[in-house]
Amino acid sequence: MDRTKRPPVVIANWKMNKTLQETTTFIQKFVSKLNHQSSQAYIAVSFTALKTAADLVKNSPVVIGAQNVSDQPSGAFTGEISAGQLRDAGAKFVIIGHSERRKYFKETNAMINKKIKLALSSGLKTVVCCGETLEERKAGKSEQVVEEQLKEGLSGISPEQCSSIIVAYEPVWAIGTNVAATPEMVQEVHLFCRTKLAAQFGDRIADQMRIIYGGSVKPDNCLPLMQQKDIDGLLVGGASLEVNSFSEIVNFDLG
Ligand code: PEP
Repeated sequence: MDRTKRPPVVIANWKMNKTLQETTTFIQKFVSKLNHQSSQAYIAVSFTALKTAADLVKNSPVVIGAQNVSDQPSGAFTGEISAGQLRDAGAKFVIIGHSERRKYFKETNAMINKKIKLALSSGLKTVVCCGETLEERKAGKSEQVVEEQLKEGLSGISPEQCSSIIVAYEPVWAIGTNVAATPEMVQEVHLFCRTKLAAQFGDRIADQMRIIYGGSVKPDNCLPLMQQKDIDGLLVGGASLEVNSFSEIVNFDLG
């Protein structure tokens, strides 16, 4: 499979885990295990670890980012962190619209759209999450939900900005459950997403956009996922917390 158009990317989402010491130990070990060939490795650390992690990866291909950003540029928003501040701390990318943010912090597609625009204008790459709940899948609404999330989330984004966007399809029912979606199921949704992205931004742009899958990815299920034509990478939660399992996924070998 020709992967030069969309080089595979594997992204760790550490969520609310790891102290500075744990971050340091992980990154030092992880960098020594990289094969530099299969995929690009991104790690989304806690805000508090951004500067430490960014300094540690300086002479490596690993990319450090954050898991959330404010939908405001600056000012009186106690507890929030702006896109500019993330950049300042060394982040190169930010995850936006994760289902945990949508569920626990009531993030809407409109808020997510504002965050994406602010992040892009600050020079951050964005990893934009979408995905249906179990109820929505059972009701046959997966495509409708994902289409709405992408259409509203990416509204007003220019085709040129799409090179800084990675779409992450993460069915909510597969996150943290040990029940990953099947490669065929994911391929079908990714192809659907690409068709919708083509309608929004044109065929050429959609063909270059990476669409990655997240939801209970482990070393033993990553290969069949990566063998699918429209799966351009993986977003990994639980299995990214251990150096061995995350490096096994990042170093996947399609043979
Ligand atoms: C996630 O939360 O983005 C995720 C994919 O988690 P897990 O791999 O643990 O399912």
